[in-house]
Amino acid sequence: MEEVDLIVIGSGQGGIPLTRDYTKAGKRVVLFERGKVGGTCVNNGCTPSKAFLAAAHSAGRARRAGPLGIAVDVHVNQRAALQRVRKVRDEWHESSERRIADLKVDLVRASAAFTGERTVAGGGREVRAPLVVIDTGGTPAVPPIAGLAGTPYLTNENWFEQETLPPRLIVIGGGYVGLELGQGAQRLGSAVTIVHAADRVMNREEPDASEVVRSSLERDGIVLALNAMTATVSHDGQTFAVTLLDGRRFEAEGLLVAVGRTPNTADLAAERSGIELERNGTVRVDDYLETTCPGVYALGDVAGQPAFTHVAWEDYRRLTSTFAGTPRRRDDRVLSYSTFTEPQLARTGLNEEEARMRGIDVRVETLQLADTARGEEWNIPEGYYRLVVERSTNKILGATLVGYEAGEIVHAIGFGIQLGATWRDLDNFVGIHPTFGEALPSVARLFATG
Ligand SMILES: Cc1cc2nc3c(=O)[nH]c(=O)nc-3n(C[C@H](O)[C@H](O)[C@H](O)COP(=O)(O)OP(=O)(O)OC[C@H]3O[C@@H](n4cnc5c(N)ncnc54)[C@H](O)[C@@H]3O)c2cc1C
Repeated sequence: MEEVDLIVIGSGQGGIPLTRDYTKAGKRVVLFERGKVGGTCVNNGCTPSKAFLAAAHSAGRARRAGPLGIAVDVHVNQRAALQRVRKVRDEWHESSERRIADLKVDLVRASAAFTGERTVAGGGREVRAPLVVIDTGGTPAVPPIAGLAGTPYLTNENWFEQETLPPRLIVIGGGYVGLELGQGAQRLGSAVTIVHAADRVMNREEPDASEVVRSSLERDGIVLALNAMTATVSHDGQTFAVTLLDGRRFEAEGLLVAVGRTPNTADLAAERSGIELERNGTVRVDDYLETTCPGVYALGDVAGQPAFTHVAWEDYRRLTSTFAGTPRRRDDRVLSYSTFTEPQLARTGLNEEEARMRGIDVRVETLQLADTARGEEWNIPEGYYRLVVERSTNKILGATLVGYEAGEIVHAIGFGIQLGATWRDLDNFVGIHPTFGEALPSVARLFATG
C-alpha cells in the first residue's frame, strides 16, 4: 500500500489545479483519470461547443444582415468548421496534458475506486492519503426510451467527431446543451427539430426569457415540439424515427440526446470509504464540500454543484483555502452563468422567483433592448435586461439579461452584487453611449421613477 499526501480522482476543472499546486509544493500526489485529461469542459463540453457556435453564429448573423442592406448568400463548409472545432479542442487538451507532464504529476490513466477509508485503487496501484478529492464530473444521461438503445444516436461525447452534420437532426432536450448544439446545427445547415418535454424551452428560467429564445430559434427555422414526451425511437440503418406519446412523428438522419447529466459515481464504490451519495447519485457534501468520510472532499458536477466549469474551478479555490486552514463555505459565491444561444440568456444572483422563495421582499425593473440606441442602431433589438433589488436596502440581488452577448455584459452586475452595490450606485454610473452596457444604469434608473 502506497501512502501519499493527496489523491485526486478525475482531472476535471478542480482536479488539475489541485494536483498542480500540491505537486509544485513538493507533496506526494496521485491523480487518477480514466478518460481524457481535462475532463468534460475541454474535451466534449465548453471548448468544442463554443468553437462550434463561433462558426454557427457567424453564419446566423450574416443571414440576419438583410435589414441592414446586406444580402448574404451563406455557404457553410461543415467539414472545415468541424475540423476547426476539433483543432481548438485538441490544442486545449494537449495543453492540459503538457501541464501535467511538465510537472511530472503522478498520473494513473485508469478508472479509480475506493477499496477502504481514504484508500483508492486503479491501474494496478492502491494508494492511501489523509486527503482525497473526488472530481469525477458526469456523463450524458440517456433516458429509457423504447428502441433508443442500440441506435447510433449522438450525445455531446461523440457530437464533435462528426465530419459533417446530418441533413435533418432531431434533438431530444430543450435545455442549454440541446439548444446550443441544435441552434448551431441549424445555422450550419441541418434542418433541426427540438423535442422538449416542458411547455417552453429553458423552462427553469423566466417565461419571457424562454419566449425570446424560442422566437429566435424559430426565426432560424428550427421546429420546436413542446409538451413532447418521446415514446419510441427507431433507426432503419439510415433514418431515425421519433414518435411522441401524443402521436406526433419526426424523421431525421441524426438524433442528439441532450436530457441532462448523470454523476460519475457508479464505479467509485464510495461506500467502502463511508461516503454517502444523494438519491440522484451525486456525492453528499457538507457546507465545506467534505463528504460523509472525514478527509474526503468532492467538487464540481459530481458534488451536485451548479454544473458549470467556473463553479468547479471556484470549488478548487474553496478547497485550497480550506486545506490551508481557512475554511470556505460552498455557498459564498454570486452564481452567474450564460447560455450561448443567440440571443444569450445570462443570469447572475437571484431572479425574482428565487428571491421571493427566500422570503425577500424585492422590487423588479425591466428594460427592453428594443428601447435602447444600440439595439436599434445595430438591429439586434431582441431581449431585455431585468434587475432584482431588495426593497429595504436597495441592494442588487440579481439580474437576468437576455440579448446579444448578454453573457459578457452580466459580469458587471455580478461584480456589483459581490461589492454590495445598490441600484442607486448603478444609476450613478455613466455608461458609454451607445452600448448595451449603458442599458445597465438605464434599468437601474427605472427604480427611481417606477
Ligand atoms: C456540451 C456541453 C457544453 C458545456 N458548456 C459549458 C459552458 O459553456 N460553460 C460552463 O461553465 N460549463 C459548460 N458545460 C459544463 C462543464 O463542462 C462542466 O460543468 C464541467 O466540466 C464540470 O467539471 P468537473 O470538474 O466537475 O468534471 P469533469 O470536467 O466532467 O471531469 C471529470 C473527470 O473525471 C474523470 N472520471 C470520472 N470517473 C472517474 C473514475 N472513477 N476514475 C478516474 N477518473 C474518472 C472523467 O473521465 C473526467 O475527465 C458544458 C457541458 C456540456 C456537456
